[in-house]
Amino acid sequence: MYWSKLFIPTLREDPADAEVASHKLLVRGGYIRQLAAGVYSYMFLAQRSILKIIGIVREEMDAIGAQEMLLPALNPAEIWQESGRWDLMGDNMFRLKDRFQRDMCLGMTHEEVMTVIARSELRSYKQLPQLWYQIQTKFRDEPRPKSGLLRVRQFIMKDSYSFDMNAAGLDAVYDRHYKAYCRIFDRCGLRYVAVQAHSGSMGGSQSHEFMVESEAGEDWVVMCKGCGFAANLEKATSIPVPPAVEDPAGDLEPEKFHTPNRKTIAEVAEFTGLPETSQMKSLVLVAGDKPVLALVRGDHTLSETKFLAAMGANEFRPAHPEEIREWFGADAGSLGPIGVKNLRIIADLALKGRRNMIAGANENDYHLRNVTPGEDFQTEFFDLRQAVAGDKCEACGGTLSLHKTVEIGHIFKLGYKYSSSMGLRVLDVNGKEVTPIMGSYGIGIERILSAAVELYCDEHGMSLPVSIAPFEVVVTPVNSGDKAQMAAATEIYKACLAAGMDALLDDRDERPGVKFKDADLIGLPYRVTVGKKLAQGKVEVVERRTRAATDVAVADAAAYVTGKIREARANGR
Ligand SMILES: [Zn+2]
Repeated sequence: MYWSKLFIPTLREDPADAEVASHKLLVRGGYIRQLAAGVYSYMFLAQRSILKIIGIVREEMDAIGAQEMLLPALNPAEIWQESGRWDLMGDNMFRLKDRFQRDMCLGMTHEEVMTVIARSELRSYKQLPQLWYQIQTKFRDEPRPKSGLLRVRQFIMKDSYSFDMNAAGLDAVYDRHYKAYCRIFDRCGLRYVAVQAHSGSMGGSQSHEFMVESEAGEDWVVMCKGCGFAANLEKATSIPVPPAVEDPAGDLEPEKFHTPNRKTIAEVAEFTGLPETSQMKSLVLVAGDKPVLALVRGDHTLSETKFLAAMGANEFRPAHPEEIREWFGADAGSLGPIGVKNLRIIADLALKGRRNMIAGANENDYHLRNVTPGEDFQTEFFDLRQAVAGDKCEACGGTLSLHKTVEIGHIFKLGYKYSSSMGLRVLDVNGKEVTPIMGSYGIGIERILSAAVELYCDEHGMSLPVSIAPFEVVVTPVNSGDKAQMAAATEIYKACLAAGMDALLDDRDERPGVKFKDADLIGLPYRVTVGKKLAQGKVEVVERRTRAATDVAVADAAAYVTGKIREARANGR
């Protein structure tokens, strides 16, 4: 294609509201334009990249035997009510009424629709297993859309769904997805890690997320360099560092002491001269409609996901100040487990075996020392806390680190959640009705583009992997008015096209600085510059990512750059 004929509206300035690199660069590069909060138009360059990403995803899904479909984004409420997710999805779901006042919604995911198809059509074990997928637009009413294409309200997803007769079948198709996802992300040129994840509102037993490490991300992942363990922070378990000061020994009685205006863990630590690890943190929460006192070590943070799992609840809220006063006879900042009645008390495992700790006295401005869990008060122990950097790995004892990541894919073993709640049954080999087992597998298409920009960018712009860049090579005559330069550039451009390369000719009547800046900004992996050296029969080939420049004979230029591109395609660079 000829750049002079294209609409590539590059900008010199970052958009005012952009914080992360991919947001700035995709807007500046003329890839995307915002229509509303979290809703973007994909212009020519973005669409070219997205179609390439979709092409890779489709090839790898087809290769594992998945059958492509296209399901409606507009869904009736009934199917979401059947699965129980009409309420569960809350404000994240776009809802609307049709002209007959029937409730409808825009799909966030398609377990329900796929299960409707399966239960209407599948009758016998002979028709299983099935593996169905689509590449389609999804909607999610994000409370705080931001970060360009990383947190949006409308996005493209590849989602696949498996139906099997038994768990062994599900294990096999889950494994095929795991490997296909690795091939997809390798081919897209990403550096990523597969981590153990929590299933959240999807339900089910096992799940992995595929994450790209990035400062732009909002998901924290815990990793062990020693053994390769990696898990989402919501899910990660770990061995906590021991308390900074050993507990006082012996069978000591709880003893009240005055802590005027000391409410926070840090204030009490400073006041007592004892570290935060010597305290119990008391959190009063209401899970479902049941109040509960949750205890964690002073320096630890409650994991909301683990708390909900322990309570078997879908949501919780902090107790209101009036509720706390009614239940404890004191205000937040002076609360503890002793003397608490009619309230369930749960404690994190890091408190198990601890003795003579400090906790609130349930009297304003007072704390207790010598509080021993299991002796001075009864409690149930759960893993409730978030892992922190410096904790030890449960598998190998190595030191854990925390990393910010962007999620690009997620695979789930759903089990029987949807097939059972929505009545999907088939006849087994004995003619008996059985419930198939399901899996669900997603990839965020635009996330791949954003993550690639985050991984590969510098002060000049983005440097996309060859496989997903909108063009693989740009041929740039330094002076488009120079007949010899234009002729040589056109010849190289045509030879690249003939060799199957996705080439662009920058024939614009612009200063060379502008042409180079634009090509660097939009991230094209290779540039062939046809300039003054043409007099000596040479052109320059520049690799965008390394900025390495090589002089090549005019006649060899197309073959040289074609070789580079083929190598990069093969190695996912
Ligand atoms: Zn380890």
